[in-house]
Amino acid sequence: MQYEVQHFINGKFVNGGDRFEVYYPATGEVLGTAPDGGQAEVNAAVEAAKQAFEKWSRTKPSERRQILNRFADLIRKHSDELARIETLDVGRPISENSRHYLERVAANISFFADFVTMIGSESYPMENGYINYVLRQPVGVAALITPWNVPLLLETWKIGPALAFGNTVVLKPAEWTPLGAWKLAQIAQEADLPPGVFNVVHGHGPNSAGEFLTTHPDVALVSFTGETTTGQTIMRAGAATLKRYSFELGGKGANIIFEDADIARALEIAKKAAFFNQGEFCLAGSRIFVQKSIYDRFVSEFIELTKKIKVDDPMDPKTEMGALIAPEHLDRVLGFVQAAKQDGNEVLVGGEQLILPGSLSKGNYMMPTVIAAGFQDKICLDEVFGPVVTVTPFETEEEVIEWANGTRYGLSGVVQTRDVSRAHRVAAAMKVGTVWVNDFFVRDLRVPFGGMKYSGIGREGGHYSMEFYTELVNICVAI
Ligand code: NAD
Repeated sequence: MQYEVQHFINGKFVNGGDRFEVYYPATGEVLGTAPDGGQAEVNAAVEAAKQAFEKWSRTKPSERRQILNRFADLIRKHSDELARIETLDVGRPISENSRHYLERVAANISFFADFVTMIGSESYPMENGYINYVLRQPVGVAALITPWNVPLLLETWKIGPALAFGNTVVLKPAEWTPLGAWKLAQIAQEADLPPGVFNVVHGHGPNSAGEFLTTHPDVALVSFTGETTTGQTIMRAGAATLKRYSFELGGKGANIIFEDADIARALEIAKKAAFFNQGEFCLAGSRIFVQKSIYDRFVSEFIELTKKIKVDDPMDPKTEMGALIAPEHLDRVLGFVQAAKQDGNEVLVGGEQLILPGSLSKGNYMMPTVIAAGFQDKICLDEVFGPVVTVTPFETEEEVIEWANGTRYGLSGVVQTRDVSRAHRVAAAMKVGTVWVNDFFVRDLRVPFGGMKYSGIGREGGHYSMEFYTELVNICVAI
């Protein structure tokens, strides 16, 4: 099937801009084309969102809830097709787009649809006979700019709260993965979302739809997930029109394994943290620190585990690791491995491109890779965003905390130990937005999600999303 992706503006599917090809990472085949939205398409979408805001922002939360829950239920209904589309977009194994994944995609909408009907507001009575109370109001048109690695999850993570709190939306999905957003627009239409409330403009970043959204005077908020350097560019672009930002940026997660950890479990967690989504994951545990007394044993078992990872056709339910997103991204990841070798780091397993037989021979496959490295080596500092993990021995708790905090990123980390006091102590000392103790990538939509340092600005999730997607008005009443 050839996909002819279109923008979704004011409730209608439209073309606009040159068309670019969309490739399937697993085979390199052309899946179809998508339109490269420009200033005209961005203007039309923002105008539609601005008009729709008038009504949507005043629609009762209970009505918004009903409409958005219909949207979420239809996502559930279409989950098999969405799972397939996500694999076509990303190259991730279909087994990782399970019902659990798609349920989370739907829950990103339904959680906030329900949440918005349950919120109250603060009041501050004054001793001199006045009372203050606080109203929360929708902000306006939200630009949602998303990356290619877990598109459906990240798109709905922004669409859900933005719409639930009464804003209207223009989504700009990543150019490498337009299919999922296109399908979401079809589902939004099926769910009868009022025209203009949810718009999708496809295209690129610089001098294209992405940039035009971030400079548009009628865009009030920008929720962006992507590379740190892109976040910096977007922040500069929006300065003239003073936008409100939420930034979820790069990561370089530490996975700290103490000698008293449950080793079998630690190995499984390390494998998942390093190689989920081909390691193209902001939360990846891409630096494994192992206490010296168990280092040799852990590393030799981890190498064996890594060798057994089934890298294959992502549509095969038995496949554990699929294809990287694009040939140029594969080259970039292989470049990091080459540079590490030149820096004297030892590749313990993998490190090479993988050519699979038959129709997969033009896919972007790579062997899962483990590299022995010191905590200050370049490979331990840069975000590789591929199936490459480093292993480093440590002796003391103090030194490993310092090493874990020794990058410019601060998104997430993992601590593995059976010592409860140490678990809490080390978790609290890590300069990251999320720490998992004895597990990885467990998400609760109520908790703050985001990063410190160069990993982002702000938090989203539960009432943290409410803070971002609402304006506050204090009303002071003389009694
Ligand atoms: P990217 O920054 O290249 O692109 C992300 C989006 O921004 C795309 O839609 C792109 O078209 C758009 N864009 C690019 N330049 C732009 C510009 N000048 N103005 C406006 N929009 C622009 O990121 P990517 O390669 O798609 O994704 C990988 C990165 O995303 C990694 O660094 C990863 O860590 C990060 N990420 C972070 C999180 C998180 O939650 N913190 C989650 C997933 C991915």
